Amino acid sequence: MGGKKYRLKLLPSHSASLQSRDFFPYLVSRLLSGKYRRISIVKMWEPLIRERQIIPTPTGRHALWYFLGIAGLKKGDEVLIAGYNFYVIVRIIVQKGLVPVFVDIDPETLCMDAADLANKITRRSRLVVVTHMFGNPANVSEIHSICKKNKILMFEDCAHAVGTLEKTTPVGQLGNGSLFSFGIQKLLTCFGGGMLVLSNHFTENEKKFQHNVSRLKSFLDTFSRFLSSFFMTGKLYGWFAYPLIKLSMILDRLGMAHLRNILEPSRDNPHYRFDVNRRAPFKPFMKRMIQLQMARLEENISRRRAIVQRVKSRLRHLPEIKLLNEDKHGRSNGSYLGIYVPAPEKLSRYLKERGILSHPHEFYDCSNLEQFSEFGTYCEHSLYASEHLLRLPSYPSLRDAEVDYMLSAIESYFEKHTKEND
Ligand SMILES: *Cc1c(COP(=O)(O)O)cnc(C)c1O
Repeated sequence: MGGKKYRLKLLPSHSASLQSRDFFPYLVSRLLSGKYRRISIVKMWEPLIRERQIIPTPTGRHALWYFLGIAGLKKGDEVLIAGYNFYVIVRIIVQKGLVPVFVDIDPETLCMDAADLANKITRRSRLVVVTHMFGNPANVSEIHSICKKNKILMFEDCAHAVGTLEKTTPVGQLGNGSLFSFGIQKLLTCFGGGMLVLSNHFTENEKKFQHNVSRLKSFLDTFSRFLSSFFMTGKLYGWFAYPLIKLSMILDRLGMAHLRNILEPSRDNPHYRFDVNRRAPFKPFMKRMIQLQMARLEENISRRRAIVQRVKSRLRHLPEIKLLNEDKHGRSNGSYLGIYVPAPEKLSRYLKERGILSHPHEFYDCSNLEQFSEFGTYCEHSLYASEHLLRLPSYPSLRDAEVDYMLSAIESYFEKHTKEND
């Protein structure tokens, strides 16, 4: 393989799309917090969200929590949600005493299938939570009209979808509410933070969302995420993460996966419980960080989309791989890049040995998880995504040569495995 020069270098599955100047607002936040406080969040989001209330929150999941609190749902009400999902979102629904009803996804977009939604509506349905998974636009026009017809609320999970367009409209402003996340893994990040977007008819319900987080806890929460983002940005990652990744591979080989979980947190923790006071509040410097990144959002998105195109056009000829149709309902922001392969864990291990990090289980089919077994449903395509989808790196600082190195590795894996099978 012609990739020798990348031997010691690591291609992380994710890298924060931050530049050095993006760290400045955090570093001087004590001095300039008055200035940052005056930034108007409504104005800042004007290119994407109009005529809505915008409420900054400690995380994206807080936004859903608050929404469920003000939407007037009662215990036992049904919430329709895609099976292929971030389990934390389903847990929050369950924790509120609501009943998740799993809807299958469209395998081409990874988002809720409108036809299956229509089949699953009952007299107890009160809310649909629709996720723009991987930053791919869901069919929200269709889903919204189903909701209206049945007098059901609609909430959009836009955690991956800043700048995603459904048809030609930015997502997050069609439903009664939506969430955005600025966590360290997300396309737009400020060491945590999130926001709740609310349709204006909730105005009278607007209330202050109170927090009770000690200053030390708040400081540590933001500071640890600042450090992670800093090390996840640019060249540093390779040097700092490489020994840790090596260690996790050794632990894996020794059958000590429980120790490895400390390095790579679980994506299916049955003991998870949401706690409003666990995370730092949204801080003024975060507004400035978002503002800086908003100014280059289109640049960020077009680089990601170019990477997705480069990968797809070269992998199209491999019969073992199935590709998504990210732009089926508009324009994806290329936030995450996924491909369907026969054995994602095996390919992921092969790539890891070559310094390329990928995720075979970015998300699970929640309708099939043990922790939600009392709500279990068979969702064919969600299960398929859970078992066959591999997430590859697609962050904007990835260079073409690095993408090509990854593609050569994928091709050589399939060459080897086709021969083995013959
Ligand atoms: C990250 C994420 C969230 C919530 O984000 P936090 O800020 O971590 O609470 C919600 N939904 C999906 C699909 C996500 O990936």
